[in-house]
Amino acid sequence: MTTVERTRVAIVGAGPAGLLLSHLLAASGIESIVLDRRSREEIENTIRAGILEQGTVDLLVETGASTRVLTDGNRHDGIELRFAGEGHRIDFPALVGRSVWLYPQHEVLRDLVAARLAAGQDLRLEATVERVDDAATTRPRVIGTDAAGRPFEIEADFVVGSDGSRSVVRSAVTGGTRGDLFREYPFAWFGILCEAPPSSDELIYSNSPDGFALISQRSATVQRMYFQCDPDADPDALTEEQIWEALRLRVPGTELQEGHIFQRDVLRFRSFVAPELRHGRVALVGDAAHTVPPTGAKGMNLAVADVVLLHTALVALLDDDDERPLDAYQEVALRRIWKAQHFSWWMTTMLHSTPEASEFDHRRQLGELRSVVESEAGRTYLAEAYTGWPLETRLV
Ligand SMILES: Cc1cc2nc3c(=O)[nH]c(=O)nc-3n(C[C@H](O)[C@H](O)[C@H](O)COP(=O)(O)OP(=O)(O)OC[C@H]3O[C@@H](n4cnc5c(N)ncnc54)[C@H](O)[C@@H]3O)c2cc1C
Repeated sequence: MTTVERTRVAIVGAGPAGLLLSHLLAASGIESIVLDRRSREEIENTIRAGILEQGTVDLLVETGASTRVLTDGNRHDGIELRFAGEGHRIDFPALVGRSVWLYPQHEVLRDLVAARLAAGQDLRLEATVERVDDAATTRPRVIGTDAAGRPFEIEADFVVGSDGSRSVVRSAVTGGTRGDLFREYPFAWFGILCEAPPSSDELIYSNSPDGFALISQRSATVQRMYFQCDPDADPDALTEEQIWEALRLRVPGTELQEGHIFQRDVLRFRSFVAPELRHGRVALVGDAAHTVPPTGAKGMNLAVADVVLLHTALVALLDDDDERPLDAYQEVALRRIWKAQHFSWWMTTMLHSTPEASEFDHRRQLGELRSVVESEAGRTYLAEAYTGWPLETRLV
């Protein structure tokens, strides 16, 4: 027989969203159980996001979740937009008085896991959640199996789905409908990690007649780079020389520092917003609630923004029996989500070429890029969105 355990908040998913939420709830005196189907090693070694907005960094530091972001991360005060063979710098502090930080997601996860374990968090890894029942009641239940294949059941005052883009919690919120707020793009990113010194101090976003490329960094000796490819491309089909050739073609005018490629992957592009973010006593945050293409570096930052809002709502609900902030959660969260959806779509369509693009489309795109870099208003919009709008904490 399965024993039913109790907690105040059951959090499904120990990605950045779930771990940060447990951290903020603990600081507010609210206990939670965090469940993840992956092991600690897998969680801490997944290479994903790299750019943190200023507000995300401030929050991690102020709440004691990470100090390493300041010592081991790198502040970036701008990016380069490269097109028609020329680079144009967008100077963030000069335009909006803010910056971003290059600090990989797996380092954020290492910091969060360490902080939560040091504080005695009930963190259950290799525990797979199968479904959430009774969402519309005051006792929703999380049902799954642990690492040894034993079934478990947890009854909570509230359940949060922070279980990523293939969320199982989502169907308890949306009733299983995906809705039609979904878009797939006719291209993907071929991503590599290589052993080489940085090719530039800041990220280069390059539009070229051969498609898009992003030159990014990881450390003094390891670099992350991407180039536009077919969504069905096989990451193992190209030789290292073919990969470097593809990159060189797409960043004309920049001399790339080349080195051994030790990881490669193909990342498909999607935009998605769940039709509902909350039903009864279950809510969604992060990639479970939305997906953005990576061009605007918004995914992890948007997860953090959702968590900050939901934390406010849960404190009001669980400490003061006040449901009004929770009732406002979806509407307030969606304002930022759609701004980020727009920014990610805009950066993507401005910089990539589609298979059916005509000469008119290429020239129009160059006109759009010039309208951005040659106008202070254009540069300011990009800088404001890229470094991140202020984090909202108020719901009502
Ligand atoms: C290549 C790449 C580059 C990116 N670059 C950027 C960037 O530069 N900046 C940025 O902001 N974002 C970026 N993103 C997006 C960012 O990585 C995600 O938005 C972020 O991970 C979302 O966090 P999350 O906590 O919502 O979900 P996730 O990180 O996906 O975490 C979900 C967790 O839930 C667990 N889980 C799933 N299902 C279950 C289940 N049934 N039971 C138990 N556990 C479960 C998973 O194991 C996982 O640990 C990038 C993404 C990719 C793939």
